[in-house]
Amino acid sequence: MKSKITCDCCGETGVMLKHITRSFGKGDQVVVIDGIPLQVCPHCGESYFTADTLQEIERLRMHRAGLTARSMAPVLSYA
Ligand SMILES: [Zn+2]
Repeated sequence: MKSKITCDCCGETGVMLKHITRSFGKGDQVVVIDGIPLQVCPHCGESYFTADTLQEIERLRMHRAGLTARSMAPVLSYA
């Protein structure tokens, strides 16, 4: 499955979209976000989040910070 996304790094098209789970922060502040779109370039091997994705992650983390801390890190769903 070839995409039309252009790699920011090498300029080739065909960047793949992968959905990953990643935790952010540490200790009581850990937030696990599920289904984050990660762009992976098969040409140069670079993988990165887009600016939009980073913004959304930040928003989700802020939302999490507003909730009462529980013993377990919650898993948030992207999108
Ligand atoms: Zn690339």
